[in-house]
Amino acid sequence: MMLSSRRRLQGRMLLLLVAVVAVSFGAWLPWEYPSSSMLYKFGIDRDILTLGKSAGVAAIVLMGLQILFIARFTMIERLVGYDRMVRIHRMVGITIVALAVMHPLLVFSIDDVATIPVKWEYWPEILGGGLLISLSIYAAIAYGRSFSRIPYHYWKWMHQAGAIVLVVTSLVHVYYVTDSYHSGVPLVFLVCVGIVVVVCWGWILFRPFMDGEKHEVVSLTRVGPAARELRLRPLGNPIRHAPGQFAYINVTDGPIPSEPHPFTISSSPGADTLRFVIRCCGDWTNRVGQLRVGDTVQVSGPYGMFSPEAYGCEAGYVCIAGGVGITPMLSMIENMDELSPPLHLVWSNRTVEDAFAREELKEHALRLHQLDVTHVFSRDATSVDNEYTGRVNHDLLDRVLAEVPLSDSLFFVCGPQPFMESVQRTLSEMGVPPSQIVTEEFGF
Ligand SMILES: Cc1cc2nc3c(=O)[nH]c(=O)nc-3n(C[C@H](O)[C@H](O)[C@H](O)COP(=O)(O)OP(=O)(O)OC[C@H]3O[C@@H](n4cnc5c(N)ncnc54)[C@H](O)[C@@H]3O)c2cc1C
Repeated sequence: MMLSSRRRLQGRMLLLLVAVVAVSFGAWLPWEYPSSSMLYKFGIDRDILTLGKSAGVAAIVLMGLQILFIARFTMIERLVGYDRMVRIHRMVGITIVALAVMHPLLVFSIDDVATIPVKWEYWPEILGGGLLISLSIYAAIAYGRSFSRIPYHYWKWMHQAGAIVLVVTSLVHVYYVTDSYHSGVPLVFLVCVGIVVVVCWGWILFRPFMDGEKHEVVSLTRVGPAARELRLRPLGNPIRHAPGQFAYINVTDGPIPSEPHPFTISSSPGADTLRFVIRCCGDWTNRVGQLRVGDTVQVSGPYGMFSPEAYGCEAGYVCIAGGVGITPMLSMIENMDELSPPLHLVWSNRTVEDAFAREELKEHALRLHQLDVTHVFSRDATSVDNEYTGRVNHDLLDRVLAEVPLSDSLFFVCGPQPFMESVQRTLSEMGVPPSQIVTEEFGF
């Protein structure tokens, strides 16, 4: 179950403190334990050289922390949420590249580069140059993944393998490029970073085989033109989730490749079976229809913070979903009772046929006086009450949210990237502060 916001805040502060202390300690080492080459540098030259070394060590510590924080350890997940951690991971990645670039710029800025001999005895420096080039390529591939045609599972494999190679090579570079890491505190520090990285990386690699609870496929039905509804019954301990959270599904001994994929749990927390609605859009999801009743799959989770339970808001919620982005909202709505705060759902689809949960939502709206459902179809015309043709834009939201106290409500937005960007822009034009908008991306 989710931690209270106070506990989460305290925990996050603690994590931040750990990260700041680790990076500061790494950056401080070159000042406290100067290498013998520093003895020939004085004044500002010495400071610039030391600063360059600090930047390099800080980059390595950050690389280690990246692996630690993205390894999906339960406690870190419960404090930050894996989805948010992925966003932080991307930002820290840029910082690492910036520090890695600063490192040689500062270190070599005090020498005349033309006088530095290129000999094999300087292999640690040459290795450092290779590292910087590799890190830049690695980062470019990571940030450019969505523009490239590299299949996700290949990219993920390369990203994970690349991470460990880069960190271990960096540690080798530091150890051999300077004599100050051969003993004492600096050596202990390097070894500790190495151990943390190897343990976390091992966990990332083997987690899919060790983590999760076995579930049995109870039903698999087609819903809408391109989606399947999968229901799973726990064979061991049930997953205790909050509405809106997601889990990883891994088919370990079924007809489709064994690789964990994230899907939102769209059933309510108390339900006997876990329900997933999966849009068939790629290699793995297009094969999900090959699963048969009785097949076993591994489910690990829950993950994520896209849940009213993570925030709490008495004034009520506005959920705006595009297509399959409805899945977290289905769980939130199924979990509602007469005492729940009001919820206004705006669900956008291309056609009426795509709105696979239309009947189900109608029943919930009859059951719950405080639930309002608005359908928007971009391609189909409709003349039904609370249904519109067009797009979710300023005009439409003004109309359908006329009675909603915008300044007090919490907004959950989920759907394709362009849809989410457009909705976020519209909401901010309508005066909703960004702190009241929670988003979920269906891709890492
Ligand atoms: C938090 C979260 C919740 C999600 N909930 C749902 C849901 O309820 N219903 C639904 O239909 N889809 C959901 N998705 C999207 C779903 O995970 C992807 O569509 C699916 O993994 C695609 O796999 P593929 O091999 O078929 O397609 P691919 O063509 O290989 O991948 C398409 C895109 O999906 C993402 N993706 C693929 N594999 C993974 C992976 N193992 N881990 C993370 N991202 C991956 C990548 O961004 C990739 O570019 C969710 C994604 C996330 C991150």
